Amino acid sequence: MVESERSKLEQKLELLKQSYQHNLQEELTSLCHVLKKAQRREESPEADVVSSAVSVDDKAHDETSLDAIYRRIHKVSGSAGTFGFEHVSQLARALEVTLLNALKEGKSSLDASLVTLLQSQLTLMQRSLVPEAQPLPQCTIEQSDIRSVAKIWLIEEDALLGKRILEQLANFSYEVTLFSSVPAIANTDSEPPDVLIVDAAAGSAYLSPLQSLSCPLFFISEQDDFDARMRAAQLNAYGYFLKPLNIPQLVNRLEQLLQERHAPPARILIVDDDYQLAAYYQLVLEAAGMEVQVLDKPRYVIEQLTTYRPELLLMDVHMPDYNGPDIAAMIRQYDAWSSLPIVFLSAELDLNKQVDALSHGADEFLTKPISAAQLVASVRARVSRSRTLSALLNKDCLTGLLKHASIKSAAIDELHRAARQHYPVTVAMIDIDHFKAVNDTHGHAAGDVVIASLATLLRQRLRQTDMIGRYGGEEFLVVLPHCTSEDGRKRLENIREYFSRLRFNQGAQEFGCTLSAGMVCSIDMTEGEQDRLLVRADEALYRAKRGGRNQVCQ
Ligand code: GH3
Ligand code: MG
Ligand code: MG
Repeated sequence: MVESERSKLEQKLELLKQSYQHNLQEELTSLCHVLKKAQRREESPEADVVSSAVSVDDKAHDETSLDAIYRRIHKVSGSAGTFGFEHVSQLARALEVTLLNALKEGKSSLDASLVTLLQSQLTLMQRSLVPEAQPLPQCTIEQSDIRSVAKIWLIEEDALLGKRILEQLANFSYEVTLFSSVPAIANTDSEPPDVLIVDAAAGSAYLSPLQSLSCPLFFISEQDDFDARMRAAQLNAYGYFLKPLNIPQLVNRLEQLLQERHAPPARILIVDDDYQLAAYYQLVLEAAGMEVQVLDKPRYVIEQLTTYRPELLLMDVHMPDYNGPDIAAMIRQYDAWSSLPIVFLSAELDLNKQVDALSHGADEFLTKPISAAQLVASVRARVSRSRTLSALLNKDCLTGLLKHASIKSAAIDELHRAARQHYPVTVAMIDIDHFKAVNDTHGHAAGDVVIASLATLLRQRLRQTDMIGRYGGEEFLVVLPHCTSEDGRKRLENIREYFSRLRFNQGAQEFGCTLSAGMVCSIDMTEGEQDRLLVRADEALYRAKRGGRNQVCQ
């Protein structure tokens, strides 16, 4: 993180801490007043005539009741530690346990001994209201060092095989340098690559120094046994591929890795009625490069999920009107949110209640106070796992692109959004020309390489915000938001042109392919016709094929 950003974050945290300290002081003072009231009642119950005449409802809101005091202490024990008031948090936690036990024994009001204990502990808390310094979370916002061409080093002793892999990877627009051995890379003074692919036969003694290059490592190997894979795991290998190499599969993993590095920030929604704690979590997660929104009214959670589409929900368990587990159970009623990771953040000490919360559909239970580093690590791991799972579910394994159903529904969602917000969307259907002939002449595996390379090209040439899907065998659907037909045509022409220049190798043979595309822009459609956008794109594709192929029609 840039130094000035860090100090800005420190200032914000400091302000939050001061405001929390102020509120905590007021809360402790208010609790002391309540205790005095309880003590008066305890000493002369007969003087408290009014209390016997009050309604059941008023009793439920009685601030001197054991339950009411317990809730307030519980809240302090959860939040004080987060803001660095460790000692206050520990004292509150001990008190909380005592009060909970009294509640479990069936008591509903404070007796003399509890009042005395509370008074002494509250005084101690007030005295120790001096925050200890809390380390700032380590921030890992990476500079956006997007390169159009990824650099790969390949270490392969077999020169012929090395040359073949190099050629095939070059088809996918990677810049590949071939080395015959690990020591050979010592002689190069160029910058480390984005990815290192190494033949495991090089021997682990040689391989250890590779770790100092601190770039992701991929192994290729003839061996598929436990020891060989374990050696790779010990060297933190990112992937392990068996020979003969399945190049599209390898490229898929390479693309996954390169995309992860430039992945958009994780989107987190925090639902917590305590705005100070929520603001603190928000700061911590934002400092770690995430995008965060806070909702303090759980009632609107579904609306917020629909508009913000978070990748993880961080939720308090105890909130005034609704409790977290019930909200989690309600969220799970919606298909769209059935796999959204839900993490509870609570000062709940009772293990049974924690288990209960998890059984309502939550994924994890983090206990307050939680350190900034723990929170970031936990949230990051959950989001990453959930991204991997959703990629497995929604993405095609040959190309890593969205599958038919996913791209179709993404296209429809986008078209509706665009119609509401009045911006243009261009949709295009792309199909490889005479693809049957490629399969017939060069084999199915060569056909796969062509499909995968068009997928890679689309990803490389389109924007992060564009949506790309494999619509059918060798047919792709792309959705370009905020794109006029003029812009869309330029981009598709660029892709068409680039694809026609690619050369594929099959044995000694070299061949090329072309594509046809049909496109349509939403603003060129009349009002009621928006639903027919995909059909119109398909019709345009048909015209491109009829017109001689290797062209873009609209
Ligand atoms: P056109 O220019 O009119 O599009 O001609 P075409 O030969 O491409 O026509 P068509 O769309 O009928 O052929 C598509 C072929 O793609 C048929 C199918 O065997 C092949 N195919 C579909 N999926 C895959 C795949 O995953 N891998 C490979 N290698 N071939 C596939
Ligand atoms: Mg075709
Ligand atoms: Mg086709």
